[in-house]
Amino acid sequence: MNAPATSEHLRPADAAITRAENLHAWKMIRTLVGFDTTSRESNLALIDWVRAYLEDFDVESTLTFDDDRRKANLFATLPARDGNVVSNGIVLSGHTDVVPVDGQPWDTPPFEATAIGDKVYGRGVTDMKSFSATGLAFVPEFLRRGLARPLHFALSYDEEVGCIGVHRLIADIGKRGLKPAGCIVGEPTGMQLVVAHKGKMSWRCRVRGHEAHSSLTPKGVNAVQIACEIVAYIARRAREFRDHGHKEPTYDVPFTTVHVGTIKGGTALNIVPRDCQFDFEIRHLPFDDPRAFFRDVETFAQTFIAGMHAVAPGTYVAFDHMSTLPFMDTDDRSEIAKIGHGCNHGSGVGRVSYGTEAALFYNASIPTVICGPGHIDQAHQPNEWCEVSQLAECETFMRRLADRVCIGA
Ligand SMILES: [Zn+2]
Repeated sequence: MNAPATSEHLRPADAAITRAENLHAWKMIRTLVGFDTTSRESNLALIDWVRAYLEDFDVESTLTFDDDRRKANLFATLPARDGNVVSNGIVLSGHTDVVPVDGQPWDTPPFEATAIGDKVYGRGVTDMKSFSATGLAFVPEFLRRGLARPLHFALSYDEEVGCIGVHRLIADIGKRGLKPAGCIVGEPTGMQLVVAHKGKMSWRCRVRGHEAHSSLTPKGVNAVQIACEIVAYIARRAREFRDHGHKEPTYDVPFTTVHVGTIKGGTALNIVPRDCQFDFEIRHLPFDDPRAFFRDVETFAQTFIAGMHAVAPGTYVAFDHMSTLPFMDTDDRSEIAKIGHGCNHGSGVGRVSYGTEAALFYNASIPTVICGPGHIDQAHQPNEWCEVSQLAECETFMRRLADRVCIGA
């Protein structure tokens, strides 16, 4: 990564800063990146700032809070010129939270958007404050030109820790009877239009065995070994999906994947281990059923139970469901896909393996696409960066969107 070596480079005289400063949304990007909205922190300072900004244009915001009222989603509507705020609107959506910077070697202050060369550095410049900032910076333009249909802004909390906040935002859209026609989520796609992504489910498996001295293994139940047999079964299923499963070649990884991410068990070599647990996930194409895969794993695990109980009745294999994120599969020929194609540079349609909260809008019957500046592999890194040219493309996208949703020039 071409990270700057020292903060010496951060002088305002740097020619590249001038280029970033030429961005219409530069001030807004700097403002939003300036709030430390790491998922564990409150995001209310950012939300309050955006609410006050929109209020200056007489645009009301609706906030939906988490249980502790430390975090909020913001939903705001720029009305159509005929007063319509309810139907046929387009949602511009982004999450406000960012991943932690703890322990990462940053060369610039992470909560400051810093332009160096042809890049802007800062936590969230790619994932994903720049898209929301660019949309917000265009509010005066949307209003000046007058909207033919409502334009909604949706800012959520706690996306990075499992798409938690947006559920309440989407429920509130339904409760208030709003019927948006489509949604654009600005996760980093390099400004490519993404219409589909895989779904994901994850589980924890807990194996309870029976301790014994390791010289007396038949008197114990080895939790680590049983867990590893189940892990090996999952690995075999992964190979089956890869070699014999249904493929969808338009995805970056064209088959369903399953994987074990963590495992821990045992205390000492001379003790037959009592406990072992591991976490696993499936990232599935729309036509593969994650629950059927899980049932197979459960059925396989069951085959050990009789043998375990024969040695010690208190032994078991238990599974905890950890998370579910549905897939998204928006029709390529839908209106929102056409709008997206019209607004980006129109090059192709992407299908990706990572999940986003776009799937939750999609599952609430709001046709949804993903298109945002920067690339996913620049996200979550130290020295997270976004090319100025990507930010400029995002502005072009908003201008073209205005051409499509506004009445006047
Ligand atoms: Zn994101």
